[in-house]
Amino acid sequence: MIIDVHGHYTTAPPQLAEWRRRQIASAGTPFTDKLSISDDEIRHTVGDGQLRLQKERGTDVTFFSPTAGGMAHHYGDETTSQQWTRTVNDLIHRVCTLFPGNFVGVCQLPQSPGVSPANCVQELERCVEEYGFVGCNLNPDPSDGYWTGPPLTDRFWYPLYEKMVELEVPAMIHVSMSCNPNFHGTGAHYLNGDTSAFMQLVLGDLFRDFPTLKFVIPHGGGAVPYHWGRYRGIAQDAHRPPIDELLNNVFFDTCVYHYAGVRLLVEVVGADNVIFASEMIGAVRGVDSRTGHYFDDTKRYVDAIPDLSETEQAKIYEGNARRVYPRLSRVLAALPR
Ligand SMILES: [Zn+2]
Repeated sequence: MIIDVHGHYTTAPPQLAEWRRRQIASAGTPFTDKLSISDDEIRHTVGDGQLRLQKERGTDVTFFSPTAGGMAHHYGDETTSQQWTRTVNDLIHRVCTLFPGNFVGVCQLPQSPGVSPANCVQELERCVEEYGFVGCNLNPDPSDGYWTGPPLTDRFWYPLYEKMVELEVPAMIHVSMSCNPNFHGTGAHYLNGDTSAFMQLVLGDLFRDFPTLKFVIPHGGGAVPYHWGRYRGIAQDAHRPPIDELLNNVFFDTCVYHYAGVRLLVEVVGADNVIFASEMIGAVRGVDSRTGHYFDDTKRYVDAIPDLSETEQAKIYEGNARRVYPRLSRVLAALPR
């Protein structure tokens, strides 16, 4: 089985963006507009998008979450974020219900700048316990480009981590849009987010307090694998534990859109810590003019690694996802055959 742990509903019908635009415009006042999207519209937008690509590329299950750039936690206030988050998570649940077995839910969290992530606990619980979601996307920068909050290792985040551990739900550390013109969203802010999150973990003692907490750093970990020696050296100079210890809790996905990058990632962090993902349909949607294949068809890069054993490949495609997301096997086992 090939499990893709990183997919977004970027093809949602336009009513969603229109609803969101009206919601943002009305921030601070009660907003009661109903979002109206039919099952057929969902079938069409997914069937012609993510489901088609899943079949064409030969993958089996895709973790599905709301559009990451659309989380946009800085808009409005906490109430705005709560309402938006419930709305998009409900939509993800509908996709997973209409295509059982093809898509498994991962939720957005109702974060808001300066607000304790304790406010995310209820929504996480709802999505996991009522909807059968297996993970969440955690935005390390709810200010969307200005990094005004505390690092992920700060006790500020602990109420959410406590619930994640209790529910056995890992988080993908995933920033949202960038309001800062210095940082292009998917080209800079995303990779900054991945890299900064890892560096915070190097300097903090988070996993001493939460030994079973698990994070997936997407987009191949940003600069992390390429600069592994730098991080090892910084940790050593700072009398920190060897960074390899983080590999008990931190995993990296394969959303790196060229072969050399994926090969390097596997070589540096090892097959036990790489989880297959494509982020379809996401940041890079085009066909590589050199190869004639989609940039985000990441299975091609994993398949091309010559010295990867069958066992290692099975870990990347399936075993690691089941290990890091323990609820997944239960969700798949409960599906009607
Ligand atoms: Zn993503």
